[in-house]
Amino acid sequence: MSDLKCKCGHIITDGTDNLPYKGEVISDQDWEAVWGAISELRQSSSDTCCDAITGIRIAHGRDIYECLRCGRLWVECEPGANEFVSFSPDTPVRNILRGKQA
Ligand SMILES: [Zn+2]
Repeated sequence: MSDLKCKCGHIITDGTDNLPYKGEVISDQDWEAVWGAISELRQSSSDTCCDAITGIRIAHGRDIYECLRCGRLWVECEPGANEFVSFSPDTPVRNILRGKQA
């Protein structure tokens, strides 16, 4: 994704790693395929594992972004589609995609 303009006018950018307002969603229906692919990596080298896990993420992960202004969540419609649907929060809770270490 390059930039995503939220309905509130805020521009959500994705130009680096470690963003506190970005995550990934994997459908519950895809987890069996994800675990199957991961279990096949047990005998692989570290580089092969990293490449394979990246491939799994690309195949099954949907990007999700939180607007830091209004809290709206933007979820990618399909993995890699770069088309998003938004959901507006009912509560003032924000920063829900921030990492546990943050
Ligand atoms: Zn917004």
